[in-house]
Amino acid sequence: MVDIRDLHVSYEGEEVLHGIDAHFPKGKISVVIGPNGSGKSTTIKAMMRLIESDSGSVEIGGEPVSGLSQTELARRMAYIPQGRNIPDITVNRMVMHGRFPYLSYPRRYRPEDREMVGKALEWVGLIELSHKKMSQLSGGQRQKVYLAMALAQDTEVILMDEPTTYLDIKNQFELLDRARLLAEEGKTIIMILHDLESVLRYADHVVLMDAGKLTASGPAREVLGSEALKKAFGIELSFIETEDGVHCFVKR
Ligand code: ADP
Repeated sequence: MVDIRDLHVSYEGEEVLHGIDAHFPKGKISVVIGPNGSGKSTTIKAMMRLIESDSGSVEIGGEPVSGLSQTELARRMAYIPQGRNIPDITVNRMVMHGRFPYLSYPRRYRPEDREMVGKALEWVGLIELSHKKMSQLSGGQRQKVYLAMALAQDTEVILMDEPTTYLDIKNQFELLDRARLLAEEGKTIIMILHDLESVLRYADHVVLMDAGKLTASGPAREVLGSEALKKAFGIELSFIETEDGVHCFVKR
């Protein structure tokens, strides 16, 4: 569904992505893993055209994103960035932002926009908090608001940069369970995660980055057990199978 081909990206003349090729299947959760500084965020930002690439391409359903206007791109791909400043607006207004790509100038919300926003807030279970300020919510609730905003944006693809950071374990699972439901509905979910146990539990497809290159991709168990993972993180994982599924821990 989303394909990256030979993507090169530099910051101030210094190349940090050295030719990435990746495929992210439709209706699946793909997770990008890799050590700090390996290029995960840069890849996601380049997919969203938030930073310019030197060469290569990103395609959605075979269509290069470089040929889309910002508005067209925002109708196809939503992006939930890493922890950010908390905007001084209500939950409802925040989720309304997801409808911007569908409004013509001057921005006037239509009944269908309000309906989609209501549905999205209901889906994440926050409808009764819609008049609260973002600053009045817990971290877990705020992250659900961003997910609702991405839903209201009604895109085929949702990119999430470390969506579970700062969330307690229950909220982490809740967020990832919701991501799973969205994938089952046919959305292409691409996220960066650090917790390898969650990767094992939730990822349908894993992409490993190391020093600006993609060094492994495939099913979670395969990538987490690969030589490339040992090399990237300098650790080796052991796996145990329980009735609840496969788990991993770091070998010492
Ligand atoms: P990750 O998300 O895997 O931690 P990043 O994509 O943030 O990695 O970073 C990849 C490389 O690019 C790192 O070497 C980092 O220092 C560098 N980098 C990231 N953002 C910038 C920036 N705005 N300016 C210059 N260098 C950057």
